[in-house]
Amino acid sequence: MELNPAFSRIGEENAFAVLARAQALAAQGKHVINLGIGQPDFKTPPHIVQAAVSALQNGEHGYTAATGIPALREAVAAELGSRYNTTVNEELISIMPGGKVTMFAAILMLGRPGVDILYPDPGFPIYRSMIEYTGANPVPIPIREENGFAFSAEETLSLITPSTRLLIVNSPANPCGGVTPKAEIDALVAGLADHPSVAILSDEIYDRLLYDDETHVSLLSYPSIRDRLILLNGWSKTYAMTGWRLGYSLWPEALFDAVRKLSVNAWSCVNTPSQYAALAALTGPQDSVDEMVTTFDERRQFVVAALNELPGISCVTPKGAFYAFPNISHTGWKAKALASALLEEAGIAVIGGPDFGTLGEGYLRLSYANSLPNIEQAIDRMASFLNEH
Ligand code: PLP
Repeated sequence: MELNPAFSRIGEENAFAVLARAQALAAQGKHVINLGIGQPDFKTPPHIVQAAVSALQNGEHGYTAATGIPALREAVAAELGSRYNTTVNEELISIMPGGKVTMFAAILMLGRPGVDILYPDPGFPIYRSMIEYTGANPVPIPIREENGFAFSAEETLSLITPSTRLLIVNSPANPCGGVTPKAEIDALVAGLADHPSVAILSDEIYDRLLYDDETHVSLLSYPSIRDRLILLNGWSKTYAMTGWRLGYSLWPEALFDAVRKLSVNAWSCVNTPSQYAALAALTGPQDSVDEMVTTFDERRQFVVAALNELPGISCVTPKGAFYAFPNISHTGWKAKALASALLEEAGIAVIGGPDFGTLGEGYLRLSYANSLPNIEQAIDRMASFLNEH
């Protein structure tokens, strides 16, 4: 069989391999604390689960329009409109089977040999994987610790060439937890006026997971780029719904028909009961989100302080998402070797920074979407491990 050579370039997300290894070790009877995979450890709020159950009981189990049920598209448009004090056309919203599928679609639609696509490094690994799959040239945007893991507008703009067709930005960010300040985003948008053929994919999946009184700055707040903005968001992180496979995107009018056709060709529609659950999530009480953020915040403060006590480790305080990205370069370990040894020898699953890009060397990613007692135990184990090695 002759596989399309593009598949030799496609990558993956090592967090899933680490999860599988952690589960295999647990099946052998080893106690593993999982700070690897990025998903809330909370249950989906009961009213959301009930909406899916009721939908099935009411016979809502057939196909829907490829872009989603009208009520959900309207609810997404209304929510975005009221949050960012703007008008959003529900006809340009597509309900997707996960946040990830929006990046898959956008990169597939705009990537091809001969074009440049800019993406954050360290960043979510699927950006680069999909860019390489399309044959486009991946251009990393350095995300630096000394910049609080925010991107720099000036540096990003300096990387744009006449071949650039897509710029991917992510704030709050995975894996570093960085939040890019408004002044920097203002500067980026201002500079983009000189590059009208660059589309922007703004991955705002962590928009509600912010700390220290940060408010989310959405690229949707900038009318000057609206006709080339692809906004990625969804329910996975905000409502603890990672396994429901739900997401949404807002598209420029010029791209909408292409994404609609891609949906028809690939997934037909998002499973119907999940769409009703998503509607309940957006229109129902939001206390669960606030409670989750408060809990994440307690863990964040603990984990950062505790990591900074460990020999050879320093950790900047992340302002968003649920990841800490400690600098381990003074431990004498390479990041992936340390991640692997921590899993095999100390029973702690974490991800090596290089799994998020070449600039991730010297760092680990710890997800604090786990209970405080588990995090405490994981840090104790890390301390013993580092003292012994
Ligand atoms: N974007 C970023 C930055 C993420 O970290 C993730 C998941 O980890 C996603 C998108 C994908 O979200 P989903 O699970 O909804 O596909």
